[in-house]
Amino acid sequence: MIRPPEAPLIGPSGASPAGTHTPGPSGTGPSPSHAEPAPAPGAPSLPGRARVVVIGGGIIGTSIAYHLAEAGWTDTVLLERDLLTSGTTWHAAGLMVTFGSTSQTSTELRQYTRDLYARLEAETGQATGFRPIGLIEVAADPGRLEEYRRVAAFNRHLGVDVHEISPAEVAGLWPLARTDDILAGFHTPADGRVNPVDVTMALAKGARMRGATILERTPVVDVLVRHGAVAGVRTPVGDIECEYVVNAAGMWARQLGERSGVSIPLQAAEHYYLITGPMPDVDPDWPVLEDPRSFTYIRPEGGGLMVGLFETRCAPWQVDRVPEEFSFGTIPPDWDRMGPYLEAAMSRVPASLDAGVHTFFCGPESFTPDLLPVIGEAPEVRGYFVAAGLNSIGILTGGGWGRAIAHWITTGRPDVDVTAVSIDRLHPYQATRGYRAARTVESLGMVYECHYPGRSMRTARGIRRSPLHDRLAARGAWFRDVSGWEGADWFAGAGSSPQEPAPTWGRPSYWEHWAAEHRAVRQGVGLFDMSFMATVEVTGPDAGVLLDRLSANAVDGGIGRITYTQWLNEGGTIEADLTVTKLAADRFLVVASDTAQRHVLAWLRRHAGAARVSVADVTSGISQINVQGPRSREVLAAVTSADLSDAAFPFRTAREIDLGFARGLCTRITYVGELGYELFVPTEMAAHVHDELVAAGEPLGLRHCGLKALGSLRMEKAYRDYGHDIDSTDDPLEAGLVFAVAWDKPGGFVGRDALARRRDAFGGRPPSRRLVQVLLDDPDPMLFHAEVLRRDGVEVGYVRSASYGFTLGGSVGLAMVDAGGDPVDAAWLDTGDWSVQIGNDVVPAQVSLSPRYDPRGARIRG
Ligand SMILES: Cc1cc2nc3c(=O)[nH]c(=O)nc-3n(C[C@H](O)[C@H](O)[C@H](O)COP(=O)(O)OP(=O)(O)OC[C@H]3O[C@@H](n4cnc5c(N)ncnc54)[C@H](O)[C@@H]3O)c2cc1C
Repeated sequence: MIRPPEAPLIGPSGASPAGTHTPGPSGTGPSPSHAEPAPAPGAPSLPGRARVVVIGGGIIGTSIAYHLAEAGWTDTVLLERDLLTSGTTWHAAGLMVTFGSTSQTSTELRQYTRDLYARLEAETGQATGFRPIGLIEVAADPGRLEEYRRVAAFNRHLGVDVHEISPAEVAGLWPLARTDDILAGFHTPADGRVNPVDVTMALAKGARMRGATILERTPVVDVLVRHGAVAGVRTPVGDIECEYVVNAAGMWARQLGERSGVSIPLQAAEHYYLITGPMPDVDPDWPVLEDPRSFTYIRPEGGGLMVGLFETRCAPWQVDRVPEEFSFGTIPPDWDRMGPYLEAAMSRVPASLDAGVHTFFCGPESFTPDLLPVIGEAPEVRGYFVAAGLNSIGILTGGGWGRAIAHWITTGRPDVDVTAVSIDRLHPYQATRGYRAARTVESLGMVYECHYPGRSMRTARGIRRSPLHDRLAARGAWFRDVSGWEGADWFAGAGSSPQEPAPTWGRPSYWEHWAAEHRAVRQGVGLFDMSFMATVEVTGPDAGVLLDRLSANAVDGGIGRITYTQWLNEGGTIEADLTVTKLAADRFLVVASDTAQRHVLAWLRRHAGAARVSVADVTSGISQINVQGPRSREVLAAVTSADLSDAAFPFRTAREIDLGFARGLCTRITYVGELGYELFVPTEMAAHVHDELVAAGEPLGLRHCGLKALGSLRMEKAYRDYGHDIDSTDDPLEAGLVFAVAWDKPGGFVGRDALARRRDAFGGRPPSRRLVQVLLDDPDPMLFHAEVLRRDGVEVGYVRSASYGFTLGGSVGLAMVDAGGDPVDAAWLDTGDWSVQIGNDVVPAQVSLSPRYDPRGARIRG
């Protein structure tokens, strides 16, 4: 067992624990904390107004100020409570790596960040400590090898120079590392390390050089809000009026947000690394060595090694409140908890065990419920931006996030897709003390888990349950976390107690259940509990006008009409993907996916202006039960007196009907490509309606179906899922949704002009970037996400989301392809020889513009 060192746990005073701190430009190094901040002598005075106030002088805040100033918004003031870097940034390990993510946004931001850090010194005269010593990511088990092969192919597609190398080659680059148990390494030569303090100082210097003002020892005690919008900030030495605020206050962001009613569900947690004693054989130019199976990253540091740790279960820190005066602070390390991880980590370089521990460092870092940052304009307050919760990668993405936020503020939109990271994906319940304490334990460990597909969060569960929950559980539902809801993923059958499926890149253990559910919907009838869908009622004399203005399709037609539509931003790209049902002249139901709940609400409310409308989130009050499949009409007919014939109740219509003893809205619509109905019933009647449907349906073979079947069914039909296969960087032309654009409707719609310009730019030809359906020829390999697509051997895109097509007989996905200026039309697709790279394998595929399953939609109209 590794023991605490005799020496002090923290290095010499005035140095960062990693021994890399360089004093800032004003000669200010780490200082003792101070309860009553006072402006530094000679600092600029507090202005009475500014266009933007950035709160927090860590890597994120300074990067935002830098990029705002670079964009010409020099009327920007950054306020730092104490000294720059005094929160989390000062003690970061400084890994600057681009390899490892299957998110296009994250990979692009990492690349931009690395390039920025590489050039900042020349621009500002302030060193950043950037050293491209390289990164070797080690795969020590087959699951990880498969993961890294898949990630490497995707990262290469996006321009990251990463190569698989043998264990012997790893040993050549890292002679002290134990390599007898590893399968391969993945080498990214241009990655490396930076000095986080120096980078922050360089960004601050660059921001100042371009005209931004940075004030240290100036805490923001309140963000001032007037009529739902930011009006200014308050500090102990006065107020600043402003139009925009960016809360980049790191682990304090949640507390600061609370004061203005802005929910920012992040939580500080312990985060560790150690510095060994001297190791003369270590070459300071060896690459960063990352070995997730041993919970560690290792790099040369101060004559020895830095050994960083990501333990599987971590410890939240200061769940009640992060102390306001905590500056350049450290947390006493928990040797007992961390001992086994240390042992495993140091064993990767056995000589480190002899060198001993010089410094064992623990500092706080912010983690979020899904390990993704909290980015964007808060739904609660207009002009209140948040950039926090960086989950241990704030340095290596900080340059990019600064650029994205600055772009968002100065142009009205970010320059990357932010759907996955947007603050409005999160909910206020996730900021409760209990939730944060429970969930954070899981977050940090996920960083180094093998990222098998389909993992669901395990902690803080059971928060949002549909009224059908117990009924589904009795049928053997395996539940996953769906925006906090317990969503049935698949069913093991009545009376079964399903176990968490073993992680795999192949066919999962529940394959047969999944296949049976899929087939039940194609051939008979399936029942889905979709109560997690976001449901919003828009009422009032102007409801139709407002919704028609927001929707690219014409939604204000006949009463009882369901319209599939996108909401666009002013740039003509997609903000939301939903249905609008006209229930009465002044009453509409908007239905969107669970993740879009707060985004759709905020979008509606912000665009409502003076319109005479009321917007009510009725998600909790309405349960959605879907009956889908060729026999769905028979099932429904048994519980209602309504005429369900095609003539009386055609596709894409809605009406209130009786359902057993209950009443509910019945909409004839489908997300699986069959005859089907979506029922919206008052929550307290849902169990009754369910029981009626089951009693009528089971004799006809009705089967309960889960999200896995929903996914495979919709993928065969190429139905889009916002945030998964289409996002805010796509327009309806590229997404293949132009059929849902009412170009000429009176009054137009938000984003119409921009979309028309995009259309006209192609001169009447199809766009050169287009979402296509991909079907593998070989029935065995599995597609999940981020697999690279090739035409005649040339990479042209990647699979954004995928599933298994049980009817089509192979993995099926949706991929965005780029023809490099040529139109993506049937001829271009048909004349190509298509394949998909899955890990190191290349699998032949078919590609099409229209869905391979029932392309004419005959089954839907049945
Ligand atoms: C041990 C450890 C190792 C790490 N290693 C790496 C790594 O190798 N690579 C990597 O990319 N990331 C790493 N990280 C993560 C990285 O350090 C963080 O993600 C990043 O520093 C977060 O930056 P920030 O600007 O959001 O927060 P902070 O640096 O905490 O900045 C927030 C600032 O806001 C100020 N503030 C708070 N409240 C107010 C207020 N009311 N008014 C004014 N100012 C206020 C604070 O004083 C603070 O300076 C590591 C983290 C830890 C703990």
